[in-house]
Amino acid sequence: MIEVKNLSKFYGPTKAVEDVSFTVEKGEILGLLGPNGAGKTTIMRILTGFFQPTGGSAKIAGFDVVEDPLEVKKRIGYMQEGQQGPALYYEMTVYSFLDFVAQLKGAPKKDRNRTIHKAMELTGIKDVKDRIIGRLSSGYKQRVGLAQALLNDPEVLILDEPTRGLDPKQIIEIRQLIKNMAGERTIILSSHILPEVAMTCNKIVIIDKGTKVAEDTQEELSRKAEGGDSVLVKLKGKQEPEDVEKEYGKIKGLGEVKVSLEGGLTVVKVVRSGVKDIREELFKTAVKNDWVILEMKSSSLSLEEVFLRLTTKEEV
Ligand code: ADP
Repeated sequence: MIEVKNLSKFYGPTKAVEDVSFTVEKGEILGLLGPNGAGKTTIMRILTGFFQPTGGSAKIAGFDVVEDPLEVKKRIGYMQEGQQGPALYYEMTVYSFLDFVAQLKGAPKKDRNRTIHKAMELTGIKDVKDRIIGRLSSGYKQRVGLAQALLNDPEVLILDEPTRGLDPKQIIEIRQLIKNMAGERTIILSSHILPEVAMTCNKIVIIDKGTKVAEDTQEELSRKAEGGDSVLVKLKGKQEPEDVEKEYGKIKGLGEVKVSLEGGLTVVKVVRSGVKDIREELFKTAVKNDWVILEMKSSSLSLEEVFLRLTTKEEV
């Protein structure tokens, strides 16, 4: 449904996006994840026809964003980020704003009221339709932003930071709303917060300094980053860290081994670099050296750790 190929965008000499490619299948939710300034908004603006790319191409439902901008606009709903939340006219009432946007989008007069009510229904804002947007809570402003994006009943929704500035309860509500809309619609959302995309999206594209550093499902991404799992072993008594490092270092398929002394225990954290389960080897090595294992725990790298590994590679 969405096809982005070798997309680049320079603002004068400033590189904002370089050689980014990805696809999104119908009904999927794709998360564009990256720190501020990574290039997420730029990609979204190219997809919505706001900006022309410097290089590469993007297609929505088979239509090129540069060659067929009108066909593209018909099929997408865009919620853009403003200074204090979604870009809306804060002095208008909810209904008059939605009516204004519906006119801009070319909704025929006879259908307009019905279209607006449907969008308000989907986003749960009927009760506030006569309120001034500027006086609504952040959660409701975000819903109005979603409602205006839905007015042309788009196949594709592009949502820039849909949960920024919301409190935890509002975040859960907006997330649910977005999830409910997928399936029928294809969605791209951006965020600089990892758990956010992990919880909402089927697929994640990580952007850093304008380039794509990873693309995967959430589970795959964790697994890929340096083999994925880490194992924590607590040994009774204090062993010499160098000895522990040396002995465990002999096991094949181990990434880094970190040893620290905590309280009266030796704590070892090892990262797997292959796909093999290394717990048995860790056990055997301990027995051979007469170390008593008090605890052994296996855990996946958190997506935060994965993200750090992927985005800080150059500086390491
Ligand atoms: P994100 O949405 O990930 O925060 P942006 O796409 O907004 O990132 O920005 C990517 C880079 O492009 C940043 O370095 C930003 O300063 C720059 N940039 C964005 N918009 C413009 C513009 N209109 N003119 C010049 N530089 C811009």
